[in-house]
Amino acid sequence: MDKDMRRDIHVPSLKDELTGLYTMSWIMTQLYPSGPIKVTPDSVVLFFNVMNFQSINRRFGFEGGNQYLRNLAHEMSLIFKDDVVARAGGDHFIVISNTLSDEEVVKRLKDLDDAMRKHERGLHMHIKTGIYHSDGKEPLFVTLIDRAKMACDVVKNVYDRDYVFFDDKLKKNNELRQYVVEHFDAAFKKEYFSVYYQPIVRSITGEVCGYEALSRWKDPYHGMIPPFIFVDVLESVRLIHKLDMFVVDKVCKDIRKHIDGGYVYEPISLNLSRLDFELCDVKQVLLDTIAKYDIPKDALIVEITESAAATGVESLVQKLSDIRASGIQVWIDDFGSGYSSFNNLQLYDFDTLKIDMEFVRGIGVNPKSEVIISAIISMSKRLQLPTLAEGVETKEQYDFLKRVGCEKIQGYYFGKPEPRENYALVKDSTLANLEDPRMRKYYSEASSLNMLSSSPLNSFHSKKKDAGGLVNLTAITLIELDETTDKTRFVFYNRAYEKFFESLGIMSIDMVKPYFGEEGENGIREVFKEAESKPDERITLDVEWSEDITLHCRVRFLARYENKAIFGFVVRRKDA
Ligand code: C2E
Ligand code: MG
Ligand code: MG
Repeated sequence: MDKDMRRDIHVPSLKDELTGLYTMSWIMTQLYPSGPIKVTPDSVVLFFNVMNFQSINRRFGFEGGNQYLRNLAHEMSLIFKDDVVARAGGDHFIVISNTLSDEEVVKRLKDLDDAMRKHERGLHMHIKTGIYHSDGKEPLFVTLIDRAKMACDVVKNVYDRDYVFFDDKLKKNNELRQYVVEHFDAAFKKEYFSVYYQPIVRSITGEVCGYEALSRWKDPYHGMIPPFIFVDVLESVRLIHKLDMFVVDKVCKDIRKHIDGGYVYEPISLNLSRLDFELCDVKQVLLDTIAKYDIPKDALIVEITESAAATGVESLVQKLSDIRASGIQVWIDDFGSGYSSFNNLQLYDFDTLKIDMEFVRGIGVNPKSEVIISAIISMSKRLQLPTLAEGVETKEQYDFLKRVGCEKIQGYYFGKPEPRENYALVKDSTLANLEDPRMRKYYSEASSLNMLSSSPLNSFHSKKKDAGGLVNLTAITLIELDETTDKTRFVFYNRAYEKFFESLGIMSIDMVKPYFGEEGENGIREVFKEAESKPDERITLDVEWSEDITLHCRVRFLARYENKAIFGFVVRRKDA
């Protein structure tokens, strides 16, 4: 980097609107030899992250948050007046210097800390800094920034320190990251990137009703490089959109192949980073690619991780809502793993909530996890937001999630992410346990009941509030009527339902089925008809069980597809 580089810079073409600082994108255009920024053994890069920036936003609103960032930018420009100061997006800043010694850096950080106290407005803010001092051997400029950020990520988790220098240990740990930074472009050209698909299963049917696209980097030297490494690196060097837009293209192309082959296909969700929305016009790319391959919009779903949504930028709210308005679903990923899960739910509208796999791991192990999952599901039902649990590895986890009414499940129990070729291509959904796409709406409506509520048949819009507990004592079953055969089928029943019949001396639900219309008796057909004609009402039906026991049932119509209809039943003893 030239000592006089600030003077060489004429009119910067790209300034950050909020702070007036240089943007990272602009810095990237100023690299030697086409620009003045050149790496020498004197170069130092500082990466700043305001740790509890959310608390400023929360207390003083977006404008208060913006004011804090402007003040920080101003103080930085004064304290590092001979250096390049840039905003790297959100609450991240960068200083590039060619003159500061390590001791001087530490002194300036102390000055910055002191200067920022007067802008804290009663909150205790923590600005963390990662520092990288060049050795003059870095192959790329972004390597400096990446190492400063790595150091910053380390100090983020240290309570009593606010800065850290990148050292040899960090360097060793991060050789793979460095490899990623340096070989990303080549990996693309050489087609080391590919997309794997993991099945998503509908709980009440056990059928595959979708796939999640997950990217893989198969490297000839390092083997499989996991996404948690390369996604993070690509975000830090602001190139993640290249990968994500590659995935968008690949997924649409694969869907096209399915359609051309006449095969059944299920919707595919893909992961987008918050940064994608800053780095490219996501909605436009999605719509263009959908048009390019001429596929239906509902074949593609976008997942946003909760930390990604957490910066709470107003424009992101608008962008996500535009994407939804255009007919593409938006799901919130890893719900519960970040700091602002609930805030996100309040700010944004989503089409499905993906429960973080940490909670799923606790099923059967940590009773608290079960309480938390149940509470998330109850809340989601009230918000009319379907839920999906990821990381399901055992039958026990699946059974629990199905019982509490989690609509969809994903995890190794049903299948690992695999290349598209490994999945059966069929023209008839029944041949491969795939959901018939025409039944998608039907099953979504059927699984919308709150299995945890003591009044599960109340419609969503009911005024009666019932948050739902962990164990439901109300006996519930979902019964499907197939008019072609005039037979009924139990699609789902909860534990309370089994217990209820056990208390009547019935040990197998099979023995119950004839009483619920399996043989077309008991006037149950009329009740089905009435329920369907009054979808917002609960119809009552008394079933003579034995001489002295009458069962009192309430029935609500849930969904219909052609000759099939599903009804929710709640059962108790009439005299009870
Ligand atoms: P995610 O979106 O939450 O994806 C789920 C991750 O959990 C995947 O890891 C998947 O392989 C793993 N997983 C699924 N079922 C199970 C299970 O039963 N047990 C366990 N232990 N793990 C399971 P993966 O593929 O390593 O991806 C990690 C994260 O990287 C993803 O988390 C996603 O946030 C991100 N990612 C992956 N591909 C992309 C991409 O193309 N773009 C972006 N921006 N992020 C991506
Ligand atoms: Mg995901
Ligand atoms: Mg996830």
